[in-house]
Amino acid sequence: MNDVLRRPPTIARKGGDPVRDAVRPVVEHHETARDRASPLRPVRLFRFAIVSVLLMTGTGRAADDCSGEGVTLQVLGSGGPEVYSGRAAASYIIRVGGEARVMVDAGPGSGFRFGQSGAKFDTIRALLFTHLHVDHSADFPFYIKSSFFSPRTDRLFVYGPAANRLMPATTEFVTASIGPAPSVYPYLSDYLEGGESYRVVPADVDIAGRELISVAEFDEIRLSAIPVHHGPVPALAWRVDIEDASIVFSGDMNGDYRTLPELAKGADILVAHNAVPEEATGVARNLHMPPSVIGDIARQARVGKLVLSHRMHRTLGREPETRELIAERYKGPVVFAEDLDCFNP
Ligand SMILES: [Zn+2]
Repeated sequence: MNDVLRRPPTIARKGGDPVRDAVRPVVEHHETARDRASPLRPVRLFRFAIVSVLLMTGTGRAADDCSGEGVTLQVLGSGGPEVYSGRAAASYIIRVGGEARVMVDAGPGSGFRFGQSGAKFDTIRALLFTHLHVDHSADFPFYIKSSFFSPRTDRLFVYGPAANRLMPATTEFVTASIGPAPSVYPYLSDYLEGGESYRVVPADVDIAGRELISVAEFDEIRLSAIPVHHGPVPALAWRVDIEDASIVFSGDMNGDYRTLPELAKGADILVAHNAVPEEATGVARNLHMPPSVIGDIARQARVGKLVLSHRMHRTLGREPETRELIAERYKGPVVFAEDLDCFNP
């Protein structure tokens, strides 16, 4: 096995200690660099104006704006792997007082949306991959290269699934992307090896069991994951507890493991992927959950709000029936996400 493919230890639940040991350096590191001044005021005002106009014209939706001082979920990409959807692919940021702190997935097109959001990549402490399909990961090297033009100095922690026979581990994906040759972009390898202004620090999260895994804890952020079934692909759902809010991301999954309700229990927001309609069968149903499963999970977990994302041609235009199927099971608010929408817990 060459250096590019050498695997570091995996974060796993087994026995508890490996998790704590793996996380400790993260905890120590993250006790720095908080409370930067937000550069977002003009953008916030612009977004507020847009939201106001939409509301006044009657086409407004339930999305909040990003100007709140508290925790905000912002959707960078509400689409899937379709060029013609008019949406960036899956990616989300969690902001506190406007400052981006955690990113979940880095799908293609999301980098452009990130720029439009007015957030700064320098303040992202951790990037969480639900899995490594193209529509969740392809902009990763773009973010790293773009950070060359920023003043970032803090390490960037990248967490995602461990490998199976079909897919690389997250550490392998990162190293094969920006590690030394023969990676895809060896000219970015200083971000892994320490020659740049900051380092990218990847780690793998075990996907062998079906238990909740405490992955990292720092500042007022707690990151937890649980394996979910996404066909043959290693996949995680993520929970971010940040300050007094909790936001859960299903990622792509079909519900077969029945693990998500435990992770999402009592969460303020559940971001669920609405990639297939109710009648989906075969490969599509093996990869994704239909509306009835989304509704069952939201009810079981008693989440405060359901945000539907990863919208594709298979489900676009079918929102009324999707909403109805979910409402038969879950009585809370349901919102269909658009790129750059913001949601306050
Ligand atoms: Zn996807």
